[in-house]
Formats: sequence, C-alpha cells, structure tokens
Amino acid sequence: MIELRQLTKRYRETVAIDGLSFTVRPGRVTGFLGPNGAGKSTTLRMMLGLDRPDQGDVRYDGRAYHELREPLRHVGALLEAKAVQSSRTAYHHLLWLAQTNRIGRARVREVLGMVGLESVSSRRAGGFSLGMGQRLGIAAALLGDPEVLLLDEPVNGLDPEGVRWIRTLLQGLAAEGRTVLVSSHLMSEMAITAEHLVVIGRGRLLADTSMDAFIGDN
Ligand code: ADP
Ligand code: ADP
Repeated sequence: MIELRQLTKRYRETVAIDGLSFTVRPGRVTGFLGPNGAGKSTTLRMMLGLDRPDQGDVRYDGRAYHELREPLRHVGALLEAKAVQSSRTAYHHLLWLAQTNRIGRARVREVLGMVGLESVSSRRAGGFSLGMGQRLGIAAALLGDPEVLLLDEPVNGLDPEGVRWIRTLLQGLAAEGRTVLVSSHLMSEMAITAEHLVVIGRGRLLADTSMDAFIGDN
C-alpha cells in the first residue's frame, strides 16, 4: 500500500501540488486522472524520490522510498515518454539495466516477451517509434519484478492494439496482488483500464472513488 500524506510542492510562485493525500491499494489498477498541468508527473516524481516535497511525504507500507532496500525490485516506474537515446539494441539496453541492478539475463528475455518486443530486440533502441519506446520503458519498469508499478501516461504513442495490450498486462499484474498506479489525462482511457480512480486538478484531490461509482454504473 502506498500512502501520500499532505504532499505539497511549489515551483516559485506556482503551487504544483497542494496538500494532496490519497492511498493506492494493491490488487487493482488505480487510475490517476487529471488535465495536463494538474500535477500528475510532479506527484509521481515525488513518489520516486526524484523530487522533494516542500511538505508531506510518501510511504510504501510505512517506509519512505529511500528506505526501501532494493528500490528497483520494489517499485518499477515509467516516467514521461521520451525517445530512448541509446545506440544499444533493445536487448542490450535492458541487459545493461539488469546488470547494474543484479538481475539475470533470463529476466531480460522474459520482459521482452511480456511487452511484445522479442522480434525487434536486436534493433537499435534509439530508432524505435514512440509506441515501441513505451513498450521498452514498460519492460524496464518490469525488470525487477516489482510489487509496485507507477506508470506516467503509458498509453501515449500506442495504437489501439497497444492500448488493449497494456490494459490486459496491467490488469494481470494487479490480479497477482501488485499495486498499479497509471496516470492519464483521458477519462476514456481510465474507464477501460482502471478499477479505482483518483482525480486531481491544480494539485488538489477532486475524487478518490471506484470507477463504477464515478461513471454511475453501480
Ligand atoms: P501533469 O503531469 O498533470 O501534466 P505536472 O506535474 O507536469 O502536471 O505539472 C504541474 C504544475 O507544475 C504545472 O503548473 C507545471 O507547469 C508545474 N511544473 C512542473 N514541473 C515544473 C518545474 N520543473 N519547474 C516549474 N514548474 C513546474
Ligand atoms: P553480449 O551480450 O556479450 O554483448 P551478444 O550480443 O553476442 O554479446 O550476445 C550474448 C548473449 O546475449 C547470447 O546468449 C545471445 O543469445 C544473447 N542475446 C543477444 N541479443 C539478444 C536478443 N535480441 N534477444 C535475446 N538474447 C539476445
């Protein structure tokens, strides 16, 4: 379980996150919805210890991110879509990440299969399309077989088949008891992927509810 408690983050005069508190539970996909600029990425960066809150904190089963013994094995993350700047092949890109985290080669092949990149694994990752890059980013997030997955706009750049694929993947991981938080600015995406919904606007919590209750389908 992840607890965000009274998170607050300012960038000069902008209050990006304003007293944000919510809990992410295991065993279901939680959608993190808000328009562009609402503060989703800032929240995810603070959850990953990449950005320091001005106030408040984030706890993973009671521990701060920096107190986790093996963060990459505990929390897998995909941050905003950026082309992979790598002259390595997809396979070697993942192998390098695996080796720096004491993860075996077998797992590299496994995650390539999970994201459907086996057939292009010998191609240069730097030449990948946005959608393939997203799949590679998700493969990297899965390398440590993490209990927690945090994905920022993972559907960006994916075609409709890719959207169905990611939905099945995330729901399968949640069904195994993992904690999955996935952000989007599109309600239509959340409605088909997430079982629970956290909505923010201007850095504040607007809703924290089951998807069924949110869309009035209960
Ligand atoms: P979202 O991911 O929901 O689109 P962001 O977390 O990227 O929202 O941004 C939230 C707010 O914080 C926006 O007003 C954005 O302009 C501001 N912001 C985010 N990062 C920075 C930064 N590094 N410096 C200044 N302002 C920032
Ligand atoms: P290295 O990994 O030492 O740079 P190679 O590229 O020759 O050297 O590959 C070494 C090992 O990695 C071999 O076991 C090979 O089967 C495996 N390997 C290389 N590329 C891939 C790939 N795209 N998918 C799966 N296994 C790969």
